[in-house]
Amino acid sequence: MKKLFSLLPAAALLLCLCGCAGSLTRYQTTYLDVFDTVTTVAGYAASQEAFDAEAEKIHSLLLEYHELYDIYNDYDGLNNLRTVNENAGKSPVKVDARILDLLNFAREMYDKTGGKVNVAMGSVLTLWHDAREYGIANPDSAYLPDADALRAAAEHTDIGDVVVDADASTVYLSDPEMSLDVGAVAKGWAAGAAAQAVKDDGLTGWLLSVGGNVCAVGPKSGGSKWQVGIRDPSSESASSYILKVGAADLCVVTSGSYERYYTVNGVRYHHIIDPDTLYPNNTFSSVTVLSADSALADALTTALFNMDESAGSALIESTSGAEALWIRADGTQVFSSGFKNYVVK
Ligand code: ADP
Ligand code: MG
Repeated sequence: MKKLFSLLPAAALLLCLCGCAGSLTRYQTTYLDVFDTVTTVAGYAASQEAFDAEAEKIHSLLLEYHELYDIYNDYDGLNNLRTVNENAGKSPVKVDARILDLLNFAREMYDKTGGKVNVAMGSVLTLWHDAREYGIANPDSAYLPDADALRAAAEHTDIGDVVVDADASTVYLSDPEMSLDVGAVAKGWAAGAAAQAVKDDGLTGWLLSVGGNVCAVGPKSGGSKWQVGIRDPSSESASSYILKVGAADLCVVTSGSYERYYTVNGVRYHHIIDPDTLYPNNTFSSVTVLSADSALADALTTALFNMDESAGSALIESTSGAEALWIRADGTQVFSSGFKNYVVK
């Protein structure tokens, strides 16, 4: 083996002398207009042009998903989730298959997590969203959503009232007061679709990060794994890591209480809401899930935030190919049985 390695630099040099045939360079770009977060695309390509073409393809695909799953904005000629919400109790809405697929998946995850991730919780999440937006803009008069209003809204979160008709390609919310919010699963679902598109183009050696949803398509060029840092929740710095995970054909998804929050009377309230209490659960400051399935990992991070350690651990251990790291509010770490196999030493 030693002999082979000592030959490698000479072989690489030879390739370069012959016009660098087959040599790939690493490129990276960032987009700020997808899912209200930062998207980074890195990949090995033969030229800047080749990289740009693939990165732009990924970007356009992510923008399509963003528009379909947007609950706040209308787009010309497009029926998106906002259209579905506006037609609650009125009529079914004909939608793109990518909406039907996401909602079917979300329903599966609702069942798998005992309802701890529920995309039909829009009525409750809107109250938190509005209070948070106001509180961030007006810290001195920040308020909590009214407890009675939360309880009343929670009467309209039955996922059984989301009627998906695959034959007609429609979605109908049969409760007029209900609304969808797919924030817990949309980024992971879209990142997974983008990673699949890269694979379908026959490429390897790409890394996509949509917010906290990171997917590695193959290892880096040359075969070593991508290293994905898991942020230290106790640090204000986004580049302060507690450990790094080695990733090749793997997604690394983290939900953190530091991502989106606001403060009322000195107490922080983050953006993941426990469907049972209707308030943020402060047991953990972040949860990371590893899985080849990006959407599954995204849904699980949200669910695990709302579950106690024993229920969450039972869920992860019974989910094939999934590992988790919980960082408790006091900073201590809990690993699922196989997580440490992925930690970069
Ligand atoms: P992040 O967006 O920071 O990656 P998540 O994947 O956990 O974190 O998604 C959080 C978003 O999901 C919230 O902003 C909200 O829109 C929505 N959400 C919050 N709690 C729940 C829940 N229990 N079930 C479904 N969606 C939720
Ligand atoms: Mg999630």
